Amino acid sequence: LEPAYSFMIRTRTPGGVVSPSQWLKLDHVATTFAERGLRITTRQAFQFHGVIKTELKATMQAINAALIDTLAACGDVNRNVAVAANPLQSTAHAEVYAHAAAVSEHLLPNTRAYYEIWLDEEQVAGTPQVEEPIYGEAYLPRKFKIGFAIPPFNDVDVFAQDLGFIAVIEDGRVVGYNVAVGGGMGATHGDDETYPRLANVIGFVPAEGLKAVSVAVVTTQRDWGNREVRKRARLKYTIDDHGLEAFRDEVERRAGFALAPARPFVFEHNNDRFGWIEGEDGRWHLTLALPAGRIVDDETVRHLSGLREIARVLEGHDEGAEFRMTANQNLVIAGIPAGRRQAIDALVAVYALDAHRSATPLQRDAIACVALPTCGLAMAEAERYLPALVSRVDALMARHGLADTAINLRISGCPNGCSRPYLGEIALVGKAPGRYNLMLGADHRGQRLNTLHRENIDEAQILSELDALLARYAAERDPDEGFGDFLVRSDVVAYSHPSHYEVTT
Ligand code: SF4
Repeated sequence: LEPAYSFMIRTRTPGGVVSPSQWLKLDHVATTFAERGLRITTRQAFQFHGVIKTELKATMQAINAALIDTLAACGDVNRNVAVAANPLQSTAHAEVYAHAAAVSEHLLPNTRAYYEIWLDEEQVAGTPQVEEPIYGEAYLPRKFKIGFAIPPFNDVDVFAQDLGFIAVIEDGRVVGYNVAVGGGMGATHGDDETYPRLANVIGFVPAEGLKAVSVAVVTTQRDWGNREVRKRARLKYTIDDHGLEAFRDEVERRAGFALAPARPFVFEHNNDRFGWIEGEDGRWHLTLALPAGRIVDDETVRHLSGLREIARVLEGHDEGAEFRMTANQNLVIAGIPAGRRQAIDALVAVYALDAHRSATPLQRDAIACVALPTCGLAMAEAERYLPALVSRVDALMARHGLADTAINLRISGCPNGCSRPYLGEIALVGKAPGRYNLMLGADHRGQRLNTLHRENIDEAQILSELDALLARYAAERDPDEGFGDFLVRSDVVAYSHPSHYEVTT
């Protein structure tokens, strides 16, 4: 008798875009094959948890029936491409999304194995039948992540990506991108050879050069990346080992052209904006706050049912209406004609999907990875602990008159950093059950990392530390000064990797 293995399946949904009919099919997958509903990841994908081994193939085929695949959603390849989800500037956003989708398609592996194994397209073993001009025989040394940001919002945390593109927009059109390389969140406790790192901006590329630069960066990492020591295999270490200038020279040589000097850019914050907003074409977009991206029906909420009803209302009626997952685990119901807003609002109210109205800024912006009980690497709770943690920190903030102040709080169950914790103004990184490293001092623009403040402490110690620091912040901050910025100005935090911790413009 075999143990009852269960699996997690992650979709490839570049930019997190899903049509209403696709939503309904994925809802069916979640309710038929998975546990705990749908979950939006920090890379704008869905994860299905608890799929049992005997139903894996049926699940993959059901996902495929929604015209969505899971190809390259895991593994040592380019993963799901993240794209700014905020549709405030819809023409430019559409262009950036199209560019990102094209890069995503271009960097897919050519292997037919996915189709053979899961979709019954015959041969499941033997000599590979296809060439892999980008990935070669051994693929990349490690996973690879790309993100596209549209200033002034850095909702994808573009500097946390192996390869980041920052859109440069003139007269409402995208003329090209600033290119950032070498970001990454993962680290190992107690190992100085591993660390989070922010990407370096190495120049500007016109939109027509996007694919060439993407391939040049990916293949340089393929050939230069560390294949001996896996924990040093990410692009950030390749760049630190070879030097940024040498890396940029090689990228330019492979691309066949030199990058232009980087253009100026300004990011205001790395959160989502919530509620309705009108796009340039007169359609409306509603961003909902979803705690940790979890969409379930349980004893307290009926979010899965509510979004199913909204998808039914939109399906077949409103061409162009779609769901857009954000990289902060929230959801945009996008492209809604003005006349249909009322119907959407009614369903949002009935199914209590309107936390964006009642939640505190801390609640709305908080991010948690999955951690226990689902992730085998978790050392401590994250998603399940988030509501209690946020309410306790909220109570401290209210006590100090900071209830309406936005502070980024992020929690990860281990140092791999799936919730991008090293960019949280307050972050907890799991060490052991109930114990965390308290990280402080990131900005709220995704341009400065936090750093270790207290190691391996429990909740009482965490709240005690925060209580004292929030009291100082309330009393001593400059007007509009963020919590992380205040802690740096006040010398509360100190940095061990000064060359990596901040992106200046
Ligand atoms: Fe799992 Fe660690 Fe990622 Fe959390 S950060 S989901 S615990 S690997």
